[in-house]
Amino acid sequence: MGTVIGILALQGGFEAHAKIVRALGAEAHEVRVPADLEGLDALIMPGGESTVMTLGIEREGLGRPLRELARSGTPVFGTCAGMIMLDRDHLGLLDVRAERNAFGRQLRSFEADIEVAGLRGGPVHAVFIRAPWVSEHGDGVEVLARVDGHPVAVRQGNLLAVAFHPELAGEARLHELLLALAAGRSGEGHTPAVSRSE
Ligand code: GLN
Repeated sequence: MGTVIGILALQGGFEAHAKIVRALGAEAHEVRVPADLEGLDALIMPGGESTVMTLGIEREGLGRPLRELARSGTPVFGTCAGMIMLDRDHLGLLDVRAERNAFGRQLRSFEADIEVAGLRGGPVHAVFIRAPWVSEHGDGVEVLARVDGHPVAVRQGNLLAVAFHPELAGEARLHELLLALAAGRSGEGHTPAVSRSE
């Protein structure tokens, strides 16, 4: 069987992620209950509304199994609300504080081309929708990209999080990075379009 990527599908933009995952030749499995986490090579936490996602995770009893999955080393990629879900105040996996709606509520939805450390092939076209930014982070967190000086892409070991939506811009390189992490190839430099910056 090929690489299986779980996508938290309680709420929010999980379908666009599934499309990219399939285009990269991996299987996309929607995750709604704890049993759906079995056998995953990596997990994506999509954008949406972190308040609603928090309630769904509680309702389904997904908090503990999600933490166990991430702590066992399975790569996890959070986008926008998914970044918020990974932070200190939510699942407590990523050593960051994500500030919700940091760019402002409605008017600060915007697109930007940003350099992401370690991604080859030019800037990433990033779609920001009522996006957070990282307002605080621990020493173990590597900042991969900033907008106006604020971290919007971070990595901490097997955890990757971005404040924007790469999946809405047809940007597949972060998903490629997730697949590379899942294959344990991240340190070698010879991965699809990615390398480590440190
Ligand atoms: N503003 C949302 C929140 O705070 C995140 C928006 C998004 O995921 N596009 O959860």
